[in-house]
Amino acid sequence: RPREELDAVDSVCPYCGVGCALTYYVDRSRGAIAFAEGRDQPGSKSRLCVKGRYGWDYAASPQRLTVPLIRKESSYPKGPLSADVRGDEDNDRGRAGAGGNRSGGGRSAKLSKNGKDRRRKPGGLVDYDEVLPHFREATWEEALDLVARRLREIHAEQGAGAIAGFGSAKCSNEEAYLFQKLIRAGFGTNNVDHCTRLCHASSVAALFEGVGSGAVSTTYGDVANAEVVIITGSNPTANHPVASSFFKQARRRGTKIIYVDPRASTVAEHADYYCQVKPGTDVAFYNAVMHEVIRLGLIDREFIKARVSNFEELVRTVNDYPPERAAQITGVDADLIRTVARVWGEAKAGVIYWGMGISQHTTGTDNARCLIALCSITGNVGRPGTGLHPLRGQNNVQGASDAGLIPMFLPDYQGVDREAARRRFEEAWGAELDPNRGLTVTEIIGSVLKPGGVRGMYMLGENPFLSDPNINKVRKALSQLDFLVVQDIFLTETAEFADVILPASSYLEKEGSYTNTDRRVQLGRKVMDPPGQARVDWEIIQDIAQRIGLEWSYSSPSEVFDEMVALMPSYANLRHANLGLTGKLYPNEDPEHSDGTVVLFDERFNTDDGLAHLVPAHWLPAKELPDAEYPLVLNTGRLLEHWHTGSMTRRSFALDAISPIAEVYMHPKDAADRGLSHGQMARVRSRRGAITLQVRVSHREQLGNCFIPFHFREAAANLLTIDEIDPYGKIPEFKFCAIQVEAL
Ligand code: SF4
Repeated sequence: RPREELDAVDSVCPYCGVGCALTYYVDRSRGAIAFAEGRDQPGSKSRLCVKGRYGWDYAASPQRLTVPLIRKESSYPKGPLSADVRGDEDNDRGRAGAGGNRSGGGRSAKLSKNGKDRRRKPGGLVDYDEVLPHFREATWEEALDLVARRLREIHAEQGAGAIAGFGSAKCSNEEAYLFQKLIRAGFGTNNVDHCTRLCHASSVAALFEGVGSGAVSTTYGDVANAEVVIITGSNPTANHPVASSFFKQARRRGTKIIYVDPRASTVAEHADYYCQVKPGTDVAFYNAVMHEVIRLGLIDREFIKARVSNFEELVRTVNDYPPERAAQITGVDADLIRTVARVWGEAKAGVIYWGMGISQHTTGTDNARCLIALCSITGNVGRPGTGLHPLRGQNNVQGASDAGLIPMFLPDYQGVDREAARRRFEEAWGAELDPNRGLTVTEIIGSVLKPGGVRGMYMLGENPFLSDPNINKVRKALSQLDFLVVQDIFLTETAEFADVILPASSYLEKEGSYTNTDRRVQLGRKVMDPPGQARVDWEIIQDIAQRIGLEWSYSSPSEVFDEMVALMPSYANLRHANLGLTGKLYPNEDPEHSDGTVVLFDERFNTDDGLAHLVPAHWLPAKELPDAEYPLVLNTGRLLEHWHTGSMTRRSFALDAISPIAEVYMHPKDAADRGLSHGQMARVRSRRGAITLQVRVSHREQLGNCFIPFHFREAAANLLTIDEIDPYGKIPEFKFCAIQVEAL
């Protein structure tokens, strides 16, 4: 149909933290999206990557959940039992990849040949035919009554600490706000968290301690004003593609790029200086850079004197890291470290952008502390072209965190242990709140396995069975819960453990606001109705709240947003009505006339005394080092075409067709030493499990290091990963564990 006959709906991309603005063109005669197009907005300028452009058809998948499901009494044990996610030595399901598409026999071929066969398992996804017989269909009344009754029973019998909730960064701000309010006000516990714990929790811990705010201090578009940027622990080409286009554009205009990462991603080809650090050595690298900046006198003494505390202790710490010593630890040539220090120190304006290569370590908070210190001692905060920017992973991980979906903070990072803040929320919500910090995602899983721990869980849009580290431990925990309710749009691996499954809505089927990595709050608008009996998430949460005795009567997401804003000073002045088509940055004095504040901390930091608090750190090795039995290091992450546990992107025809197969990326010599060639099947083992997948020989990998994306159930990378966590941010060490790779 010609464009003018299509219905245009302006919305936001649901994938990465860039939050590109887009328009869906809907063919109402077919009830389907015809295409998506980028829309002009300061942070995306009409650009889209492949996920935004093509990754929306999953919402129309015939595998959508359309009716509430209740587990049959006799259906035990819980959870996926098939060989593909057991991680046994005899597992060879990864051989076929996602249905073996490359040989023509896989999912794409099946779907296009036979529409009726669509409920069958596309390779690598949950087998509906295997799982559904363990459940029976129920009415909403019956399912919601059961959820409320069982959670209340567990609460009454075992106390508030026996209840926990996992929300999701895929949820809108309003859904995140209501979910944490339900857990806190309804069950009296702060055991509520979401996938920020697996993403940037350590960055937020360091930023809070250092500058008093977990949000970015400037936007990625501000790269245009920077003389130099450091991009570190990040592969923005794959993970934040449109932000990456801003970086590359800035370089063409003269901004220097220093790239620091163990993997030589395509960003290395655009960098002026590439430092291929050994994994897990960031603290040593940045301490050496600071050592040189200080030695060369390239610090900003005036800024330090007026706005920084604890500089002397930092000096004492980094004195231990001359470039020669750091070179031995990091593998980066000492002269290159000196050059980087000089280029950064001499620049008038610099920004550091970082990703999960920094945060997903047991030293993740220390890594981020070093970045905060490097910016602070060189005066690179508070002016255009300067600042600190952890590139957020999911489209609404910033907003969900802002809205209080974290166990230590009420909305807007107001500490649960701060009496004045707590009192304010108690008054607003009419409930007594727990003054103790709750458990994090990573702690909740451990707690289930202990006496007196969590017994009942509400899981909203999360799939920890594939996303959390060491998933055999997660399997044990989820299968031992007394009660688990999963609210999702597909039968995920985690839903296989559920007692009740509630069919929810995709972002295309509801209205709500989302906050991107830049602090830009944008409106997602409804494109279509949810399928079957599936319902929008905020209404489901409200129905459960009412059943446990909370007197909620919200009539719309905008009403929820108004309540949030009244309790969240950072969001002051924002309303759905003034977000417009391009959204607004927060803080924002006058959203009717202004886009909002790009650069924070121009006069003071958000800390109590207004100063940046430097917290020096010494380098510590990773928790599990390579040895003779497991001589290689595993790094896990994302691909351009896929998204987290693949529940959405692996049901997107185009995305799955482009990237259908689980692969282990290996340095050519590591592969050759094991008699492996490109395309051959290999077994990857760690102390926790084994998976089988295809070898991709890649010159981008460092000798001794392998990369495996975590999107693929049939070769679940998190069967291998270690569940050690950072002591401050409680984030797992997804970027480092010891493995062996063998030919089959
Ligand atoms: Fe979506 Fe991120 Fe791609 Fe933009 S860059 S289209 S937000 S996935």
